[in-house]
Amino acid sequence: MFKNIPASASLQDDSDFRSIFKFHPSPMWVYEPDTLRFLAVNRAALQLYGYPADSYPSMTVLDLRPESERQRMREAVRRRDDIERAEKWTHRKADGSLFEVLTYGREIRFGGQNAILAIVQDQSELQSARQTASDTRALYDAIVDHLPIGIFVRDMHYDGRFAVFNAACGDHFGVDASQALANKGEQMLGWLGTDASLSTEKAALQAGSAVTLEERICGSDETVRFIRTTRQTLPVSEDEHGRYVLGLSQDISSERAAAERLSHIALHDGLTGLPNRANFTEVLDRRLRHATPSAGLGLIYIDVDNFKMINDTWGHSAGDAVLLEVAARLRRQCSRGELPVRLGGDEFAVVFSAPAEAQAESLCGEILKTLEKPFCFENRLIPVTCSLGAAMVFGTDGGAEALLRNADFALYAAKGSGRNCFRLFKPEMRMKAEERAVLLSEMTHALAHDPAQFEVFFQPVFDVFEGSLSGYEALARWNHPDRGMIPPLQFIPIAEESGLIVQLGELILDKSCTAAAEWPSELTVAVNVSARQFDGCGLVASVVSALDRSGLAGPRLEIEITESMFIRDTVNFIPTLRSLKALGVRIAIDDFGTGYSSLSYLRSFEFDKIKLDRSFLAGIESNAPNLSIIRAVIGIGRGFGAAVLAEGVETSDQLDLVTKEGFSHVQGYLFGKPARHPARPAFPIPARRVAG
Ligand code: C2E
Ligand code: CA
Ligand code: CA
Repeated sequence: MFKNIPASASLQDDSDFRSIFKFHPSPMWVYEPDTLRFLAVNRAALQLYGYPADSYPSMTVLDLRPESERQRMREAVRRRDDIERAEKWTHRKADGSLFEVLTYGREIRFGGQNAILAIVQDQSELQSARQTASDTRALYDAIVDHLPIGIFVRDMHYDGRFAVFNAACGDHFGVDASQALANKGEQMLGWLGTDASLSTEKAALQAGSAVTLEERICGSDETVRFIRTTRQTLPVSEDEHGRYVLGLSQDISSERAAAERLSHIALHDGLTGLPNRANFTEVLDRRLRHATPSAGLGLIYIDVDNFKMINDTWGHSAGDAVLLEVAARLRRQCSRGELPVRLGGDEFAVVFSAPAEAQAESLCGEILKTLEKPFCFENRLIPVTCSLGAAMVFGTDGGAEALLRNADFALYAAKGSGRNCFRLFKPEMRMKAEERAVLLSEMTHALAHDPAQFEVFFQPVFDVFEGSLSGYEALARWNHPDRGMIPPLQFIPIAEESGLIVQLGELILDKSCTAAAEWPSELTVAVNVSARQFDGCGLVASVVSALDRSGLAGPRLEIEITESMFIRDTVNFIPTLRSLKALGVRIAIDDFGTGYSSLSYLRSFEFDKIKLDRSFLAGIESNAPNLSIIRAVIGIGRGFGAAVLAEGVETSDQLDLVTKEGFSHVQGYLFGKPARHPARPAFPIPARRVAG
């Protein structure tokens, strides 16, 4: 290709020119300006254009151009247009493909004649590099804009303006991304979250580490979102350290909502929506930490009286309705910062703060009053009452434990005082509880080591029709070595609560049967049993063994149960009664009229005797409603073929009345008090049958 290049090129050093020309990476050629014929073509040009090297001597530079450019070329050469400056052209390769070039022309002497050196710069590579760069940028923009997380980059050297701000970021902060990119950072500060954002940004800049923040962002359309951002300085060159802050934002609203839902479920009662026990414990601990001697923390325990009975009598949906109504009333009542809670079952509580106990007292009074209002379910009136026990602590004295314990003592006292009332904690209550604990431990010890301390006293029961003694009721006594004779109402409830009653009841049953076996054969013995003795199958076995050991005939034993036992859902309660009956043992309902508002249970078993509670006899002379009840009970007894006994007959007027009304049996101080060795008293008036 160089054979046409004469050795006398006008360069200073012709060999230099030749080697530059030959090996230069830019395509070059030399042509004759008048004929436009090629004088020389370098290697890079041969490669780029693809024409065979031996075809150039017969070609002109016009052959490298499409037809459309040739005229322009002729004129350009004539005017020397591309001399000393770059000109843009479209060239054609041997394969016919067109491409963009820039050419620089320079007039030289070549082989002793005037010639033009053309240097070609292939624009297609540059263009494709540009295209690639712009494609990459578009791709990058598309990625950034379609990322589900928000990305922003702030340039702190330019007032914190945004260098990057994607669409998700705009959504998160409720702004238009293009506007964010157009505005200055200062203006944007408010848009990018709260004041906390700003300080987080500063902290991130200072620490040089990532700082994460969760914020509640209220958008311009009033929608509230929870946004988590992580801000970090971008690690760039040493000089630019701290220039860029990279922020990643994430919408955690649904995550938050789910967490809140879960925490709501964990901390609230499913039925009533009130805070639950876990919540209560937390609140109590928190409030206790802030309690001061002048701002006491109070707790009221609220228990629905006989809730189980409500469930059993009126059904579970009625029970739920009662709980919902209790919750609603508590909510309404607790409007001054008091917190109502459902602890579980029929137990509620109210946590409150007050400067003195007087406030606790009036709050209890108000709550009791609101709970006393009638409860209606499906147009029926449900009898509901509640018991309340309240306690307060001032300062952090004793902490939550003391507060819970004291409120519990107070509730226990309220229940012990006949329910449907409130009690405020008094230190005596704790003393009583401690006393109960001591009695329990002594009772446990006595039952194990000295059961003789438990005695049975007997109170006579008369048959009015026969005008004669029909038997005795066995009443337990605890002959305590230090305390003397303890009445049953002081220790039986403790035995019942602790479960010791099972063992104690067995002992009393045994002693009663053994004593009765010594009496004339027409006399019966009535033994009181407690609800807990019906748990499991122990009672029937104890009766069988007591009868066996004593030799007493089954029909001479009467078992007294109370109405309230029907409230407990002991599965084997009725089956146990039937098994006892099968042994010939008689069953009496004790304290009739005090325990249960529904009489439907009477249908579930054939009772042998109904013992009307002695409270109905007190003041009967002047109490007309009691008289109506008495008559109704006698009617019930007759209807069911059961004997009807009047308890607590103390005066001959009462005796007159009960015999006139038709009671079949009587019992009371008038005929004899319970005694260790009962006398065989005579009936003070003639038998009714005899009297006619
Ligand atoms: P309860 O079964 O209703 O027994 C009758 C109670 O009334 C006895 O009191 C008796 O002394 C008393 N009483 C009898 N007549 C009169 C009267 O005319 N006027 C007055 N004011 N009271 C009279 P006590 O012995 O103190 O027993 C009280 C309660 O203790 C009993 O009431 C019974 O519920 C329970 N109890 C007694 N012994 C036992 C027992 O062995 N086992 C169980 N589970 N409970 C027992
Ligand atoms: Ca009794
Ligand atoms: Ca009784």
